[in-house]
Amino acid sequence: MNVDLHSHSIASDGLLTSEEVAARAQAGGVDVWALTDHDEVKGLPAARAAAEALGMRFVNGVEISVTWRPDPAHKGTTIHMVGLQIDPANPTLLAGLRQIRSGRDDRAARMALDLEIAGVRGALEGAKKFAVNPELLSRTHFARFLVEAGKARNTHQVFGQFLTEGKPGYVPHQWATLEDAMFWIQAAGGIPVVAHPGRYKLSAPQLAQFFDEFKDLGGAAIEVMTGSHTTDQYNHFAEIARCYGFMASRGSDYHGPGESRVEPGQLPALPADLTPVWHDWY
Ligand code: AMP
Ligand code: MN
Ligand code: MN
Ligand code: MN
Repeated sequence: MNVDLHSHSIASDGLLTSEEVAARAQAGGVDVWALTDHDEVKGLPAARAAAEALGMRFVNGVEISVTWRPDPAHKGTTIHMVGLQIDPANPTLLAGLRQIRSGRDDRAARMALDLEIAGVRGALEGAKKFAVNPELLSRTHFARFLVEAGKARNTHQVFGQFLTEGKPGYVPHQWATLEDAMFWIQAAGGIPVVAHPGRYKLSAPQLAQFFDEFKDLGGAAIEVMTGSHTTDQYNHFAEIARCYGFMASRGSDYHGPGESRVEPGQLPALPADLTPVWHDWY
């Protein structure tokens, strides 16, 4: 079974509609597909309808932005938590997501100001032109604007020069706490999954502490095969999953043509000894 449990549509920072991502997933041979937009669930009904019309199984998903350790003594680290099999109508989840989205406008204004100081004009209006969902202005939309403005050749290169810590356009931001994000997902009947654990700027002991806290909060699954991991990281996080007894997930993190390394359904299979997060779904 070809399972891909991480992807984005225009409801967040993807380039394609729910229907178009569904078609790409089917073209990639996907049997079970999840749409996991950042802090947003409004693309799910159309995605489910499209998936089922194309003969795929569909999983309701979301990717929640978290700031781990937001206390003043530590600099918070942004972590992404995927929630799978959520009830997209759950009021607790919906209120939580609305709360995170509401911080994005102010952050975007501060990002634009910081870019202006660095000599890049009109970034807020420019980024907004790329955001189909006005509640979800993201760094990706700023990155597309910066490419259009000739500041970098592609969105991936933008993040080497802008929008990341220490670079123009970066502003610190407080997302949800780990506790809140886990609670919202669990309240909605979903399974929290640590997204692309290889991408965080944490030392090995810090990452171990994070996994301990995640496990204490009821966490039981991490992404092992993701478009954000290198081959070495596939092996490393497979080993982490074994050590902690975590279930493993697989997801391309597809954002659209030209912006993603991996098409839906094209990652290697999970190592056979790991328990897939979907093991008891069907
Ligand atoms: P935001 O939630 O607004 O902070 O935006 C985060 C999004 O920016 C991620 O989900 C990615 O889609 C994109 N992103 C962040 N870092 C990079 C990077 N180094 N290369 C490409 N895309 C990135
Ligand atoms: Mn994204
Ligand atoms: Mn992510
Ligand atoms: Mn993602």
